[in-house]
Amino acid sequence: MPISFDLTGKTAIVTGANTGLGQAISVALAQAGADVALVGRSSMAETEAAVSAAGGRSLSIQADLSSLEPVDRIISETVAWTGRADILVNNAGIIRRADAIDFTEADWDAVMDVNLKTVFFLSQAFARRLITEGKSGKIVNIASLLSFQGGIRIPSYTASKSGLAGLTRLLACEWAAKGINVNAIAPGYFSTNNTEALRDDPDRNAAILSRIPAGHWGQPEELGGAAVFLASPASDYVHGVVLPVDGGWLAR
Ligand code: NAP
Repeated sequence: MPISFDLTGKTAIVTGANTGLGQAISVALAQAGADVALVGRSSMAETEAAVSAAGGRSLSIQADLSSLEPVDRIISETVAWTGRADILVNNAGIIRRADAIDFTEADWDAVMDVNLKTVFFLSQAFARRLITEGKSGKIVNIASLLSFQGGIRIPSYTASKSGLAGLTRLLACEWAAKGINVNAIAPGYFSTNNTEALRDDPDRNAAILSRIPAGHWGQPEELGGAAVFLASPASDYVHGVVLPVDGGWLAR
């Protein structure tokens, strides 16, 4: 059998697909042949156009992932569209910045709810359907360098992304034998809304750039290949990894 990165006939769900990394992942999956359900709370118009320009098909699903309300609906609306849901990319995430000494309960809860709690229950809903129907599938969680490192001034973000690395491993252990691959990608420093404050701070920007071996901030398109790999048959024996796509940051 030739190695296959082909996603033709598969349906992917991507959360936080309106912008940034989620948009780039949606386009990459569509280029590989998948139909893509674009999930989020903002207009998906830009991503719909980009997927269509890539020759793909998309469905937009309105969902605020700060609560569990949309979890079952995301799966049922996707399945009502194409009859299937093969790939789940848990990409939506938020960050709140403040010194640990001043950090508020609201900023703790908001980040943990979107970055960890909803990710777990959406993964559960996705896997329940696959397991009930005896089908295989792929879950790709978007982790972070803060799954490996401490960082500063982002306590709930670091806790959520370190927790997500652990959750990725646990779900891989429980579901690998059921034909569901659970893995994660740890993006390095990518140029998106999430990192705008860092790029706007000349000192932080220079410090970050100086330690990236590749010498530049990641562009969202540079994440697409890893997402397609972990969503495709090429990764069928890959379970529970957190794959850095970081321009060499962690190798430093
Ligand atoms: P971004 O541009 O801020 O995108 C975050 C996405 O999550 C947006 O689509 C956002 O929707 C969505 N989202 C946030 N809260 C939501 C909610 N309550 N309901 C529905 N959608 C929600 O940043 P990004 O860099 O592309 O981030 C994507 C993922 O990569 C995140 O998990 C982030 O932690 C991770 N990451 C990013 C970097 C980086 O360098 N950029 C590095 C490591 C990890 P709205 O536009 O409506 O807010």
